Amino acid sequence: TAKIIDGKIIAAELRVRVAEEVARVKREHNLIPGLAVVLVGNDPASEVYVRSKHTQTQAAGMASFEHKLPADVSQGDLLALVARLNRDPAVHGILVQLPLPKGLNTEAVINAIDPAKDVDGLHPNNAGRLAGGFEALSPCTPLGCIILTKSVHASLEGMNAIVIGRSNLVGRPLVQLLLNENATVTIAHSRSRDLPGLVKKTDLVYAAVGKPEMVRGDWLKPGATVIDVGINRIPKDDGKNRLVGDVAYQEALGVAGAITPVPGGVGQMTVACLLVNTLRAACAITGLPKPAV
Ligand code: NAD
Repeated sequence: TAKIIDGKIIAAELRVRVAEEVARVKREHNLIPGLAVVLVGNDPASEVYVRSKHTQTQAAGMASFEHKLPADVSQGDLLALVARLNRDPAVHGILVQLPLPKGLNTEAVINAIDPAKDVDGLHPNNAGRLAGGFEALSPCTPLGCIILTKSVHASLEGMNAIVIGRSNLVGRPLVQLLLNENATVTIAHSRSRDLPGLVKKTDLVYAAVGKPEMVRGDWLKPGATVIDVGINRIPKDDGKNRLVGDVAYQEALGVAGAITPVPGGVGQMTVACLLVNTLRAACAITGLPKPAV
């Protein structure tokens, strides 16, 4: 049965390394990296994410600035807040929690963020730099996927990978990061033909679709490494939710060589990588060398 890739442990180790580097830049350069998170409205899932970002940022020794705005905030007021954060020297990372409530223009808000502070890696400047193979702030979830893969394979050079899903948040940037690792990448999406056949040929499988247990065990190449990005909430009888991924986990366990669980896999890595991006942004903005994490 497959090795279970423990995102909890790997994320905890990464957070320790970030905290050590934060302590070092504080000690040597009097720099306290700061992350500002903007939450508009009260989407319950977003509130959970924002709370965990706040706690983990502080635990790493960084400054955390939370800005909660009502769901009916105007586009102008939201853009004014982003402009203020762009100018604030204590803020090195700006994250606007998505999705934004209806009526707000997400693209305009992302474009307004200073690319040097764009720790979500969604500004076209960063997306373009990543696609061009240049140094960039990259989206956190794909960064986490690469770290999890490397916990199994020290080098991805020459390996076949398939990324299922082509969103700006996950699929597309993940493809670029895999190319930077010299993997051979297939990009699959809702219009792809014979997805099971494509998956069957592939060593590294990344599922970022948002469809519960879509990827079946018998699609997999025996021994494949499976990174499941999906977080799907399935209502239970007691009114609570159960989380499942985009991969049929129990089936895949018998075929895959290694697999990430949901929860406890990719989701754990996303916030840890946000801390990494904030530290990197703080060093870049203040002219310090790239941190050792
Ligand atoms: P999205 O809806 O923006 O994109 C989904 C992609 O899947 C699209 O590109 C679409 O072409 C593709 N797709 C849809 N149906 C398909 C099908 N039948 N076959 C093949 N491809 C299909 O979603 P997203 O933002 O990329 O997120 C994907 C999943 O990852 C969601 O479950 C989301 O909750 C989860 N997610 C997890 C994290 C994390 O921290 N672990 C972060 C972001 C997103």
